[in-house]
Amino acid sequence: MNNRVLVADDDESLVRTLTWILKEHGYEVFVCPGGDSLFAKLEEIKPALLLLDIMMPKVDGLQLLERLKQDERHKDLPVLMVSSMPPEEATVRALGLGAADFISKPFRVRELLARVEAHIRVGRALAQAREEARSRAAMVDILHEVTDSLKPDEMYHILARRVARALNISKCSMVLAKPGDQQGVVVAAYENPMLRNLQIELSRYPEIRKAVSSGRMVLVEEVANDPLYEDERRRWEREQIKVPTRSAVALPFWMKEQQIGVFFLRTTGDDPPLTRADAQFAETVIKTAVSAIEKAYDFETAVSDKQRLEKLALTDALTGCMNRRALAEALAAELDRARRYNLALTILLADIDRFKSINDTRGHIAGDSVLRQVGELLRREARSVDIVARYGGEEFVIVMPETAPHGAQIFAERLRRRVMARDFADTGEDPLHLTVSIGLASFPDDRVHSADSFVSLADQALYRAKNEGRNLVRQ
Ligand code: GH3
Ligand code: MG
Ligand code: MG
Repeated sequence: MNNRVLVADDDESLVRTLTWILKEHGYEVFVCPGGDSLFAKLEEIKPALLLLDIMMPKVDGLQLLERLKQDERHKDLPVLMVSSMPPEEATVRALGLGAADFISKPFRVRELLARVEAHIRVGRALAQAREEARSRAAMVDILHEVTDSLKPDEMYHILARRVARALNISKCSMVLAKPGDQQGVVVAAYENPMLRNLQIELSRYPEIRKAVSSGRMVLVEEVANDPLYEDERRRWEREQIKVPTRSAVALPFWMKEQQIGVFFLRTTGDDPPLTRADAQFAETVIKTAVSAIEKAYDFETAVSDKQRLEKLALTDALTGCMNRRALAEALAAELDRARRYNLALTILLADIDRFKSINDTRGHIAGDSVLRQVGELLRREARSVDIVARYGGEEFVIVMPETAPHGAQIFAERLRRRVMARDFADTGEDPLHLTVSIGLASFPDDRVHSADSFVSLADQALYRAKNEGRNLVRQ
């Protein structure tokens, strides 16, 4: 584990003290007096943390910090700024430039150590998270997990788990709530994978309520003395409830620019309390995870929307078969293919016999139902490579690639018999029987030079079937 701390300071006695204290506590300490050739030192040592003096005689610490944070190689390195005078302005500037924290001289040893430790920990976690995000395998893994299980329930769970693991926190749940809501719904909890849609009263969770209403992260370091929990503590006392939570973070999150809810992170009992650094790190992780999921989700919905729309545009609304416009294109393409590769191609035109009388005697609704059922029957009987289309009112076309006249004849006969055998009545109605007449046309044929001429050839055959008494197949 990298425990190296680099101290860049010109104050020799301070450097000595710092070195001693840090070494006592298990850190490896390196010094870069006066900040000279800091970048070379960083490359050489690769520290886990940099202690940087703001004011050194030769170089400006803030400038160094700025350069550091712009440098791809060092921008994740936690930097603790040290200064003898803590002018408010310098502090703000240092933090604005990306310093992790600010310590003023003289410092308290315990405080210094606590901060060094905390920032090294956060730096490590950040490096790890970046590493993970960078690694293709991990990304593919996340996306795979997400796209494979786009059900919201599972997405929520993945998020809760990812955040809990990244932060090494055992309690992480996801609560859906919008500003103004009195109740929230816990949709996933890392600590309880079976949990689904548990309703909670937000009045009992002041940090969640505050985060939801303000849209900002709320950190409660110590539940035992945070003013936010005053009323709740009184209630716990009254009702003699023992609450194990020590600290909590409620982190609002957005998807598609909508505030959706909060991530609710908690530590209990002897776990160290959550710090602002933890909360900020959680925020980063959540943003990354949410945007990864958003992207995957977007991608999925975009693809499926497009597919759905395209399919819709090609489909006849009543029967679910391909519509006439789409048929024209598909048939032209099939004809092209048959011509180019010297393949047989047969089309079948089926027309329901005396369909008008069904409308007249049973009504249009029954007529529609018949059309729907015929469409269904044709699609079921056809092979998967065949194209089934509604050509007009009660006329259907089946395009059969790589099918010669003989095979088509057998198929058409079977269809004719299936239709004849079936009762098309809706439940409770009198039986409704019908027949179809079928015309076939096959390519190659001298009369076929386009999709249109192909269909009209089939239409001529159909005409013969009708003329010769209906309920017949002709080609
Ligand atoms: P033939 O045996 O000669 O084919 O007689 P037919 O009555 O089936 O033929 P015709 O082409 O004269 O009539 C077709 C009828 O189909 C006329 C029309 O009202 C009806 N029809 C067309 N589209 C629809 C529809 O979407 N729903 C319903 N219910 N009827 C339709
Ligand atoms: Mg007709
Ligand atoms: Mg008809």
